[in-house]
Order: sequence, then C-alpha cells, then structure tokens
Amino acid sequence: MAGDLHNALAEAEAQVARLKREIAQGPCVEFGHDWQSIGGKNAACGDGCGCSVPVNVCTKCGDCDYGDNADADEIIKSCAESESDPQP
Ligand SMILES: [Zn+2]
Ligand SMILES: [Zn+2]
Repeated sequence: MAGDLHNALAEAEAQVARLKREIAQGPCVEFGHDWQSIGGKNAACGDGCGCSVPVNVCTKCGDCDYGDNADADEIIKSCAESESDPQP
C-alpha cells in the first residue's frame, strides 16, 4: 500500500528531525540547558487570576521552554493552594 510507505516515510522523517535536534542540542542533553529568562506569559491557571510564569530560552542551543519549567509549576501550585473557595 502506498499509504503504508507514506506513513513509514513520515515516521522516518520525524525520527531524523528528532535526532538532528538532539545533535544540535549536543551538550545540553548531557549537561542540561542553560536557561535564561526572556520574559513571562499568562499562567492560565484559573479564572481571572493574573499569575504569570517565566519563559526561558537556552543560551546554548536556543531551545525555548514556553513557560514549561519548575518555576511555573511552583507558581501554578501556590495559586491553586491560595484559592479559598473550592470548585463546585
Ligand atoms: Zn540547550
Ligand atoms: Zn493563578
């Protein structure tokens, strides 16, 4: 089936892209990213709350965490804990 070949090709291409990214990140995979804050974004953890979480970019490979980091987890968690009225 041609469809199967297309699927196999898409899978192979996805794997190549992943490997290329890992090679580009090189030392980051082994030693960790060197995150640097480039600003913040809305945490979107609740209705009408104004939390913002830091967004970091790696100075070595240029990877961006889009606000997916330990600080953000902490902010969202403490926001949920400070929420006094429970959801119905
Ligand atoms: Zn990196
Ligand atoms: Zn919040």
